[in-house]
Amino acid sequence: MILHIGFDDTDSRVGGCTTYIAALLVEKLLSVGVEFSEYPNLIRLNPNVPWKTRGNGALCLRIKCDQNLQESVFDKVRNTIRENMNLEHEGTDPGIVFFEGAKIPREIQFFSNKTIQTMVNLSEARGLLRKHNASAIEYGSGLGIIGALAAIGETLDGDHTYELLTYRKARNRGTKRMLNPESVKQMNKETTPQTFGNIDPETGRVLITPRGGDPVLYGIRGETAEAVAKAHHMIETSEEIERWVIFRTNQGTDAHLSRLVPIADAEPYDAVVIQGTISSPPRLVPKRHRFFSISDGTGEIDCAAYEPTGVLRKVARDLKIGDAVKAYGGVRPQSDLHPLTVNLEKLEIITLTSKFTEQNPECPICKRKRMKSRGSGQGFKCVKCGFQSPKARKRLVEEKRSLVEGLYITSTRSRRHLTKPLSRYGREKTKRPSKMISCWHNP
Ligand SMILES: [Zn+2]
Repeated sequence: MILHIGFDDTDSRVGGCTTYIAALLVEKLLSVGVEFSEYPNLIRLNPNVPWKTRGNGALCLRIKCDQNLQESVFDKVRNTIRENMNLEHEGTDPGIVFFEGAKIPREIQFFSNKTIQTMVNLSEARGLLRKHNASAIEYGSGLGIIGALAAIGETLDGDHTYELLTYRKARNRGTKRMLNPESVKQMNKETTPQTFGNIDPETGRVLITPRGGDPVLYGIRGETAEAVAKAHHMIETSEEIERWVIFRTNQGTDAHLSRLVPIADAEPYDAVVIQGTISSPPRLVPKRHRFFSISDGTGEIDCAAYEPTGVLRKVARDLKIGDAVKAYGGVRPQSDLHPLTVNLEKLEIITLTSKFTEQNPECPICKRKRMKSRGSGQGFKCVKCGFQSPKARKRLVEEKRSLVEGLYITSTRSRRHLTKPLSRYGREKTKRPSKMISCWHNP
């Protein structure tokens, strides 16, 4: 039988990590004799939902096993999750979903797509579970089954990437991570663009390590399983690695930003792409964040380039009314202080408006020096050499723009897990890998 095991929201804002439970389960399930038909899938969901934990990532394990193993698989999953989840922290509502079958129903795939881009509700998830005979275990409010089902439904048949995650020994968690930054720089140099997101090019900061009490030592993202495995072996650390696993994931694919939405239909917390023209000039709010508005014929909406977006904030400064753009980001709900706002992740400048200004003509004798008007209909005169021209006319000159058309992406350090980096454009995959590499986990 083929079994899909989805789970979500086992971690809280203060530590614990759903991917770590997946890594534990890889070892435990292999030990009872199941076969993994696929790398564990790490599915990032809509990063704008208000109840998310840090990364809003859900997991799916897809395995083959004999019917008689089913009970022990269920037990292992239930027990491992129960032992490792952080239920004592408010806002942690784990969910587990089991689905049996070789094919994932289209409806569940569609639900998954929705969960990556918008807000979905619990009753929709529960309805699908009933209809398709999936079994679920809910804790707390039960919200975790939304992500658990969504992880099952995202089969990553199109574009995808990989992440190799290493985990720390329990005794080291919460202490400083012992990693040689020079080895990260060397790895980055040798494996880019087959890996990405290793180092912030603006600050030189190492980005593969999370902060705080997270069990992850480091994670390396890349285009293939081979690439992340190779990069992993280049990292020098004096810390013992408890285990590591390669995940196949929708990270770095813009899976959340694939819907072009009319402004009138933009809903709070959705991830959207809006195409329109600049309708109000950029302004600083209050002193560090830059806002402007765009309209598309169905309405007008604010866009925000916050200070950490780096390049986006700089680009926003030079926008002018009439510029045609595509704005990519999450919709922040309206409040007393501000209207509905797109928090920008990307901005594509499609066309810059041309602005023409009138200028006095150049003096044909002195060159470069502009002549002075002698009054309406009286022509022009050069104040330097005295040349006069009764027939000279003002000329229209196109204003120079400091911007160039193209795609701009928020700075590396402020990217979402899902944000596709520039280095991935043109590398999008259209099918799943035909086989797994032999060494994709340890132990
Ligand atoms: Zn002159």
